[in-house]
Formats: sequence, structure tokens, C-alpha cells
Amino acid sequence: AIISIAFDKPAIVIDGNIQRIISRLYEIKEDLKKSKSKIYGKLEKIISQERPGDFAQALMDLGSTICKPVNPKCNSCPLLKYCLAHKNNTYKFIPLKTKKLNKVIKKGYLYIGITTEEKIILIKRPKKGLLSGTICPPSSDWKQNEFPTPKPPFKGDWKILNESIFHSFTHFDLELKIMISKINEYPNDVYLEPLNSSILKSLPTVMKKGVALVIDNHII
Ligand code: SF4
Repeated sequence: AIISIAFDKPAIVIDGNIQRIISRLYEIKEDLKKSKSKIYGKLEKIISQERPGDFAQALMDLGSTICKPVNPKCNSCPLLKYCLAHKNNTYKFIPLKTKKLNKVIKKGYLYIGITTEEKIILIKRPKKGLLSGTICPPSSDWKQNEFPTPKPPFKGDWKILNESIFHSFTHFDLELKIMISKINEYPNDVYLEPLNSSILKSLPTVMKKGVALVIDNHII
């Protein structure tokens, strides 16, 4: 950074802010210790030859004010439309750190069924297991490293969204793909909540993320 800022030479600069921005921009899902050469490669292609100092300074400013480690302000980010981690909702996990890599990764589906009265279908989870007894949208089993075969619980024209949601539990990270469908028939023992119900805001965090993804993006 010093060479490019002080002497305006096109030196490649990598600090924590720049690592984070480039990793998210190109959705580099490798541990930071291993991804440096890939980050250099990406930077080499986009560094400004005319104004490398400004380029370095701009990236560092972006990293410290907008593309922060936690809660990046993506809606104010000039890279928003190019950013793969934002597009795929993976920015919370990028850049990856060794601690996270050592965690088990589980995958599954969250089934968001909407009735013809525009209500979301919730069920009570089984008494055993994680989130036991909580009221949630139904989900599949969570399988290690691969997605299980989707088996939606109600008849419908189910579609899988491109975006996933991610959540860290103490012993594993979870990726859930969202499936949605309009539902005409459902069992009597389900719970129906309007889309603006405050109950949806008190769901377990991972479920709340899935419901919010659908409602906030008007994917219904
Ligand atoms: S869109 Fe969001 S994650 Fe992507 S570079 Fe900008 S602030 Fe970072």
C-alpha cells in the first residue's frame, strides 16, 4: 500500500480490508492462509495502472467504512452489482478463516409454503434434536457436506431459490437452500401466520433468516 500510495506505482497491496473486499467480490471460498495468491491474481487484473495510489486508498477506505467484517453496508457499496458474495448471500462467511474450515458443514432445505390467503405455514419441530419443539417453517434433514434429496412436506409447485442462507451453530455451520411454493392443501395441525405477523420475527434465528429472505425480496 505504501509504495502505491506514496509513489503512485502499481504495486499490489494486500491488507485485511483488501483481502476481505477481493474475497467477497470474487466469492473466494478458501481459507485466508491459502487464498493470498488468488487474491493477488485478481488484484493484478483490476489495479489501476494510472492511479494505483488512489486505487489502494479507495479499497482501504471501502473496507474500513463499508465492506466491514460484520454487517457490511452492501446497499451503499459501489461494488454491489459486481459482488458475488453479496449476490449469493455468502459474505458473512467470507473471507473464510481456519476456525470455520474445521467446522462441520451441514446442508439442507427450508420449505416456505404460502397459502392462498397469503399465510406462511409453520410446524412444530420434533421434541428431540436442535431447535426441538420450536415453531418454524418445515425443513429437511441437515446432511453433512451435501444436500439431501428435497422432500417438500406439502403438495405444491416447489421452486428452489438461487440464494442460500447460512448460520453458525456451535459445532457446525449450516447452509439452507430455500424452496417456496403456493400451497392449497395442508394438514390441520400446522400453524398459519400472516406475512406481517410479529411471530415471524421471533422464530429461531436461522429460520428467521430464511423467512426474511423470501418476504424482504418479495419472492412470493
Ligand atoms: S457488496 Fe457488500 S460484501 Fe460486496 S464488496 Fe460491497 S460491502 Fe462488501
